[in-house]
Amino acid sequence: MKFSIQSRQDVQSNELMDLAKTYLQDFGLVYDEEEPEIVLSIGGDGTLLHAFHRYAKSLDKVAFVGIHTGHLGFYADWKPSELEKLVLSIAKKEFNTVAYPLLEVQVHHHNSESNTYLALNEATIKSPDVTLVMDVELNGEHFERFRGDGLCVSTPSGSTAYNKALGGAIIHPTLNAFQITEMASINNRVFRTVGSSLVLPAHHNCVLKPVKDQQFNMTIDHIQMIQTDVKSITFNVANERVRFARFRPFPFWERVHDSFIANE
Ligand code: NAD
Repeated sequence: MKFSIQSRQDVQSNELMDLAKTYLQDFGLVYDEEEPEIVLSIGGDGTLLHAFHRYAKSLDKVAFVGIHTGHLGFYADWKPSELEKLVLSIAKKEFNTVAYPLLEVQVHHHNSESNTYLALNEATIKSPDVTLVMDVELNGEHFERFRGDGLCVSTPSGSTAYNKALGGAIIHPTLNAFQITEMASINNRVFRTVGSSLVLPAHHNCVLKPVKDQQFNMTIDHIQMIQTDVKSITFNVANERVRFARFRPFPFWERVHDSFIANE
């Protein structure tokens, strides 16, 4: 089996990376950064986001596994002390994979060009001006004119990240859906938005259409960009899915509990 390792590049993560590489090679696995079948991410959730984007073009061939050298992560759920157990399970191929939905974002420009992005956590849209103004269409029908700080469109596995901080719902990642969550919408006698997060199924789509500005600050997970000359932005559940290697049961709600409720 071919493997690759993404490290957060701090001292502890790099030491663990060297150890994991040696152990796995001792078991006859081949280190291959170009076409790995399993990618170990060592650091935090952010490191796994980097690993995901590094291999986003070969998601059908890759399974990810995360080790946290900081606090317990949603994607990085193995402790450094469990490395040997993990290596043994990888070498013996004693693992299953689970597949989670991703978000597809298509940015259409006035010059007929369009760009497509995949997000593991979310996409956010904000205006370089103070207020973002966007017409929101759901399945081709006008839904609302949004005015506020911005909009966050997240995947189920990303629902525990930025979306949660904005008051969005936590969605189980076996649900094939995406969620639209407001950032500080303006609601008064003149302007109206729904005010709640919306959860859409895989066969629905959401289109944002600029009302006056055509330049926006957009994030796709940890990646920030400026989109100019924007005609519309379409969101839907992607055809691609991300696969995680599972070596033991760690139910999602237990992870939510351990991350947000439990005192360690
Ligand atoms: P980072 O790695 O420091 O991540 C920020 C925090 O988000 C970390 O504590 C990380 O564990 C947590 N996180 C990431 N994905 C998660 C998930 N799916 N579920 C629960 N927690 C998760 O910073 P980064 O590398 O820039 O990561 C980018 C991510 O940061 C974005 O995808 C976004 O979700 C998150 N973010 C959160 C806020 C917020 O909560 N107010 C604001 C901006 C960005």
